[in-house]
Amino acid sequence: MPRFSRSRLVVQKYGGSSVATPERVAAVADRILECRKVHDHIVVAVSAMGKTTDQLVSLAKSVSGNPHGRELDQLLACGEQIAVSVLGLALQDRGAPPVSLTAAQCGIRTDGSFNNARIHQVDTHRVLRELEAGRIVIVAGFQGVTDEHEVTTLGRGGGDITGAALAAALKAPVCEICTDVDGVYSGDPNVVPHAHLIPEMSYEECIELAASGAKVLHPRAAEICMQDGVPIHVRSSFHMKPGTWVRGGAIKMEQAAVVGVTADKKIAKVTLLDVHDEPGVAAKVFKDLARADVNVRLIIQAAATHDRNRITFVIDLDKAETVRMLGLTWLKRKIAGEVLIDMDVAKIAIVGSRIASTPGLGARMFDALAKHRINIDCISTSEMKVSCVIGGKQLDEAVRAIHEEFFGTSKRKTSGPAKIAARGRRAS
Ligand code: ADP
Ligand code: ASP
Ligand code: MG
Repeated sequence: MPRFSRSRLVVQKYGGSSVATPERVAAVADRILECRKVHDHIVVAVSAMGKTTDQLVSLAKSVSGNPHGRELDQLLACGEQIAVSVLGLALQDRGAPPVSLTAAQCGIRTDGSFNNARIHQVDTHRVLRELEAGRIVIVAGFQGVTDEHEVTTLGRGGGDITGAALAAALKAPVCEICTDVDGVYSGDPNVVPHAHLIPEMSYEECIELAASGAKVLHPRAAEICMQDGVPIHVRSSFHMKPGTWVRGGAIKMEQAAVVGVTADKKIAKVTLLDVHDEPGVAAKVFKDLARADVNVRLIIQAAATHDRNRITFVIDLDKAETVRMLGLTWLKRKIAGEVLIDMDVAKIAIVGSRIASTPGLGARMFDALAKHRINIDCISTSEMKVSCVIGGKQLDEAVRAIHEEFFGTSKRKTSGPAKIAARGRRAS
């Protein structure tokens, strides 16, 4: 094996669905060996097999009303440890020299925020040593370890973050995210039958799509790669065809385009009624939320009537109980007269470049919803997206309606309502 050379390195991440069964693990092992014909050095981050993490969460819930913190991470990290060793055995069986590593063995250091830890350092010594010894390095995704040797996890879907962090630390020429679809599509291909594969996109577009609900890639993974200039290739685990390239400068100057439609079901809408119209009230509410580690995604304050405001915001569904408890304190402190939490809602968005500064895109989105008699609850816009909160039950219909408006119903349609912009398949 030649000495380590970055140009001959590939970092790949295989998601849970790609290693869901022993047969799929075997197929991934074969694929890795196929890649070895092209790349001298291979580092692979792996997620837990299939629904293992969901099952571990259920197990935790069966013994605890509120599983969280250190003990939960001790349990959740087991899923990835099984996956790396099973893949290691499959490679060994094929005569290849693997080394499977937990995050602790690999040196993936995080802060101590259990269940949602952030990587602050990847010590590459062990990985480089193993690569120089000619081994295929298999790293448990989703896990980390603190400086005090505590096991942490990076948050759901965090296997992508491990892949990106390894690629960035090793200065890899590419980070391949290998998954159960062929790349990033204009809409979730499992919901929108006519969604098209996006051949290339910018980091910013990818982060916005991912943050708005396209779970094919974790937004923090795209952020890490953007920071270090590592190109990402989102592609299928099941074949070798190219997928979606995510890299810097992938959008044409001044070209406004909707790149995709996203949906997020895992949200709740919180409304504070009868809020005093005086300075400092909103600050109190959002400071409490920040202290409780609640991410707020969309905030709307309606203009005051009779010195009373209404504040609406959207949170992650799994924080609904935390916010309900905070709500009780707001009522007690007379910050609000009523706190309503609606869990039967969803968020839908069009994402792309220069969205807000291109007149008419929002109107087309609202019109598509209106034609399907889908009521819009809240609207928010930013330069890269227009999002609406709607009833949860109508989500899939809404996604298809908006996708049809911007991209048409034919996979290769180039005229009609979906006017395709310069880069081939983007709607403008
Ligand atoms: P993995 O197990 O590989 O991490 P995930 O289930 O986390 O895979 O992500 C892949 C899934 O993301 C796909 O099966 C698809 O249903 C979903 N998805 C949602 N939006 C998109 C999109 N815009 N493009 C591609 N896939 C998407
Ligand atoms: N196994 C973890 C999860 O299910 C991490 C991942 O799949 O990326 O969230
Ligand atoms: Mg994933």
